[in-house]
Amino acid sequence: MTERQKFDIVVIGGGPGGYVAAIKGAQQKKSVCLIEEKDLGGTCLNVGCIPTKTLLANAEVMHKVKMASEFGINVGPISIDYAKMKNRKDGVVSKIRKSLEGLLLSNGMKILKGHAEFISPNEIKVRGQDNLIVEADKVIIATGSAPLDIPAFPCDHKKVFNSSSILELTELPKTLAIIGGGYIGCEFASLFAALGVTVIILEALPSIVAFQGKVIADTLTKAFVKQGIQIQTGVFVEGIDDTDSGLSIRLKGKLSVNCDMALVSVGRKICSDNVGLEKAGVKVGEKGMIPVNDKMETSVPGIYAIGDVTGKFLLAHVASHQGIVAAVNATGGDATMHYEAVPAVIFTTPEIATVGLTLEQAGDRAKVGKFPFAALGKSTAAMETEGFAEIVIDKKTKAILGASVIGHDAASLISEMALAIANELTLDCVTETIHAHPTLPESWLEAALIANDTPVHFPPKRG
Ligand SMILES: Cc1cc2nc3c(=O)[nH]c(=O)nc-3n(C[C@H](O)[C@H](O)[C@H](O)COP(=O)(O)OP(=O)(O)OC[C@H]3O[C@@H](n4cnc5c(N)ncnc54)[C@H](O)[C@@H]3O)c2cc1C
Repeated sequence: MTERQKFDIVVIGGGPGGYVAAIKGAQQKKSVCLIEEKDLGGTCLNVGCIPTKTLLANAEVMHKVKMASEFGINVGPISIDYAKMKNRKDGVVSKIRKSLEGLLLSNGMKILKGHAEFISPNEIKVRGQDNLIVEADKVIIATGSAPLDIPAFPCDHKKVFNSSSILELTELPKTLAIIGGGYIGCEFASLFAALGVTVIILEALPSIVAFQGKVIADTLTKAFVKQGIQIQTGVFVEGIDDTDSGLSIRLKGKLSVNCDMALVSVGRKICSDNVGLEKAGVKVGEKGMIPVNDKMETSVPGIYAIGDVTGKFLLAHVASHQGIVAAVNATGGDATMHYEAVPAVIFTTPEIATVGLTLEQAGDRAKVGKFPFAALGKSTAAMETEGFAEIVIDKKTKAILGASVIGHDAASLISEMALAIANELTLDCVTETIHAHPTLPESWLEAALIANDTPVHFPPKRG
């Protein structure tokens, strides 16, 4: 007979959604079981945020090394050991994974290794390294997403890669075609271009990072073109042929593109099949996304879904926050998920970060204050003057509605605006906060002063 164990909460999937929910549940003194079929940390830790940012740290070093002589530091000829970069990346991932396992165990939860599938609304069968049936009062589904495969040009993981398998490369190609100019494709473009690879982005939409709005798409396009990244937009890839000299990418109605390797980065597949959702009675929506209410509850009371599988934002920090909301509700509390202040970062060169509404989204009630990094002392000192910080405010109430920043360390800078929007702060809260000098966050103070029509380090409006 199959072994059975009972828990207050069972979490399926050990990514940043699932493991955070499991920690929160355990902290509420509930018995928690976390089931993971691959590696703890999910996409984010193993094949997403962390490995890509570890590799992108190399691009940052490269950028500085190339500028070294302008700082008066002369370095010898640059050479790249990509195998070493890949090894460092693997080391970072496995170190964090090991700490994560320790952290989860320290919270007193049970970790099961295997594939989980509902056999009824409160019974889950686990198959793999562990084989048993777990019973649960509450279940949190956090099964995430995976790279989307396109049947017309499947990945062979030798010359045609997806965002996971390209992380296993140990040698750089001379030429890389990236099919898909979304944020993941663009981050890889930045990485490989910085390391000297000729990069060609092939995008079906009229621009790269189209979902980010025109200003950001245009700014990144300009920066990429300056860096030598080739971009073809409005192109439709029909197939990829393996030739003696590499790959030939067939484009509908256009000349083929030749390259050594290709990265297919055309979106994510939601992982909600093979979980037995039909046996639990959980409704599944378009493209496999699991619909949830603002308590993160699915169509079945007591069964929650969080993270990429809900198809909301496909960002690790959103998955984690949803995980906390679900765990609080699953343990008798009352938490609600809000999406007004979700920061989103594209780790390209230059970095791009946004939160809240754009001016177009906010409409006539809004106006902006925009401050260029070229006018900021710290940026000038560090020779990082590209880009700007922009605040969108309500003209009448001065509420901060949105913000965007393009430039050095945009990823860190956006937090101040996320805090402001999440807490419904106004422009005065920013202008009355003393910002340390000389620092990059002063760009928010200056942008706020401009939005307030009281600029200090920027000329006043004429008339
Ligand atoms: C290349 C790349 C770069 C990214 N960079 C960033 C970034 O910089 N910042 C950011 O915020 N986001 C980034 N993301 C997105 C981020 O990784 C995801 O949004 C995040 O991992 C989603 O978390 P999750 O917990 O919902 O799912 P996942 O992280 O996908 O985890 C789901 C887990 O569930 C497991 N699982 C699935 N089905 C079962 C089952 N039936 N039984 C047991 N286990 C199961 C899977 O093995 C997996 O480990 C990136 C993604 C990619 C691909």
